Amino acid sequence: MTDLARIASHLDTLLGTATIPDYPGALNGMQVSNSGTVHRVAASVDISKNVIEDAVRANANLLIVHHGMFWGGAQPITGTTYDRLRLLITHDVAVYSSHLPLDAHQTLGNNVLLARTLGLEPNAGFARFKTVDIGVRGESDVASEDLFARADAFARANGGAARSTIIPAAHRTRRWGLCTGAGASTETLLEAQALGLDTLIVGEGPHHTAVAANEAGLVIIYAGHYATETLGVRAVADHLTETFGLPSTFIAAPTGL
Ligand SMILES: [Zn+2]
Repeated sequence: MTDLARIASHLDTLLGTATIPDYPGALNGMQVSNSGTVHRVAASVDISKNVIEDAVRANANLLIVHHGMFWGGAQPITGTTYDRLRLLITHDVAVYSSHLPLDAHQTLGNNVLLARTLGLEPNAGFARFKTVDIGVRGESDVASEDLFARADAFARANGGAARSTIIPAAHRTRRWGLCTGAGASTETLLEAQALGLDTLIVGEGPHHTAVAANEAGLVIIYAGHYATETLGVRAVADHLTETFGLPSTFIAAPTGL
């Protein structure tokens, strides 16, 4: 058993919760408290009624998530919002959420871990958001079709599938950028072009990003929003196991995206 406040404060420091900027709905840090101690940790990408039920079944009383409870802004505590809160409070489950701080983290972050999982070694930042680089970039020499196959295998192992823009024959990935989740946008495409990148690996992005990439001769690999953000929460749970001796469980809950 470990004190909940001690874990929250440890994670706040480790992840830079107070200093990394984010969208208002992220509300990084402790989102729901419990009665004070933790005996098992569960981790999942998103919070939902099903995820909370799985955490309760696993006998966890701290749930670590990447996308927390408040994305929609202030909402009445009715319907599924009520169901989630009732389950959490009834079963004494605390919630700690970390969005961009977890994307950007140097060792536990979604971006650095996905790059390494795909056989890429980052050497710089990418996808600037206000004062921080959320993503990573680096150099390689790999057939872009092979990189796509690695991304697709990873996505399929995590309940999804990868898509890509048109990969020209013999196209090689020599300068890449990576931004998990909704990583393809007008901003990241402009940044990629300014940096001379030839390949972008993201979770997802709007259709216009594919049109712009094909036009500019840039390859984008869309490996799925959910799949690309499974690594960070797993790493945080493993870190809590190593640091505090708390057992942990990953709750897979693919969204189809
Ligand atoms: Zn996300």
